[in-house]
Amino acid sequence: MSVDATATPAAVSSADADPACAAPLPVLGRDVTVPLVTGGEVVYAALDYAASAPALQRVWDDVAAYAPYYGSVHRGAGYLSQLSTDLFENSRTTVAEFLDCRADDQVVFTRSTTDSLNLLAAVLPADCQVFVFETEHHASLLPWSAHRVTYLDAPRTPAQAVEILERALASREPHGPALVCVTGASNVTGELWPVRELAAAAHAHGARIVLDAAQLAPHHPVSVRDLDVDWVAFSGHKLYAPFGSGVLAGRADWLRDAEPYLAGGGASRTVTRRADGGVDVQWHTTAARHEAGSPNVIGVYSIASACKALTEAGFDHLVAREQALIAAVRSGLSDVPEVRVLSLFGDDAPRVGVLSFVVEGWNSSHFAAALSAEYGIGVRDGLFCAHPLVRTLLGSDPQVVGECGAPEAAPGERSLNAIRVSFGAGT
Ligand code: PLP
Repeated sequence: MSVDATATPAAVSSADADPACAAPLPVLGRDVTVPLVTGGEVVYAALDYAASAPALQRVWDDVAAYAPYYGSVHRGAGYLSQLSTDLFENSRTTVAEFLDCRADDQVVFTRSTTDSLNLLAAVLPADCQVFVFETEHHASLLPWSAHRVTYLDAPRTPAQAVEILERALASREPHGPALVCVTGASNVTGELWPVRELAAAAHAHGARIVLDAAQLAPHHPVSVRDLDVDWVAFSGHKLYAPFGSGVLAGRADWLRDAEPYLAGGGASRTVTRRADGGVDVQWHTTAARHEAGSPNVIGVYSIASACKALTEAGFDHLVAREQALIAAVRSGLSDVPEVRVLSLFGDDAPRVGVLSFVVEGWNSSHFAAALSAEYGIGVRDGLFCAHPLVRTLLGSDPQVVGECGAPEAAPGERSLNAIRVSFGAGT
């Protein structure tokens, strides 16, 4: 796969002319009609993929085809159980291929990106120092609090991000483990982060890096080897699969050396009662170590199905289509003088199909509600679980009004919120 991560909308807008780029991938929910307050009804326009993307028709079809064979995973000798176990384990291979993992990487199935990053936080060596930009989604900002955490200031260019990280890493105590956590694409601005350069900086200073690919993986190929990241986390429900499953993939050693994230059946290889009355446990050293309990085979199979569908569709095609769409949205918004598009890295920064804005004189919550009620367009308003970033982007902006608080605003706090439009392979 070869995709230019830095392609500007202008550079790829010729995708419009390419009939191969005209077709979205089939998703369920495209034909849903919703009532309007103004009377009548309209076909719903889901522009909230960054929260949860509609699942691909192909994923539902694969799940329906598997449904008659549904059985317990790792817990039965019967045919259906064996089949389900194979399907579950083969899904690891599919995900590893999708992420272009190293041969000895582990793929652990979790509930979500949040769960994956909390799992990684739980297995970090005790003296690990963590470096994280304040601009991160809360899922990558908050799980590390049991460790020494250095919160890095918001950069204003990708190059500045690398400088800030390098400065922080250079000032750390040189010995001891360290982890950098960074997002691949912002869930607020959609902007792409310089992951490869940040990984190089981390490694040069003896640190490891985890990529939060929740917003990147649905829009862009992710190669663990090419980016040279140590771990990647993403969620099925943002990757055109149903809710309930996620992935943490990467280096096996810290995962293998730590206590299981969850203790229970499936994670334990042998459990024996000792003569003194206690219990000895030998834990698995594979991904199963952190997957105790009966696994979510449907969720995992759905992720594998989505990975295959995206690979078969081709990211070249998907990226080109999406960039043409985002160029159209940007051009439309630029015709409205009251609109300000939020950006950390500048207007021309490459981004995935995620974009937030404010409208002068409007409370963003009211604006988003009006889009839904009057036009049947579903967007998101608020601070998008990235409060420090949205405050940085909006904090001193006089055009942000809000007599009515955003859901996240504390009592008495000035309402800071924005509107987010996001789309993807099914748009
Ligand atoms: N990271 C980013 C960048 C996100 O956008 C999100 C969700 O919006 C998450 C992490 C958390 O994903 P989940 O809610 O699936 O755990």
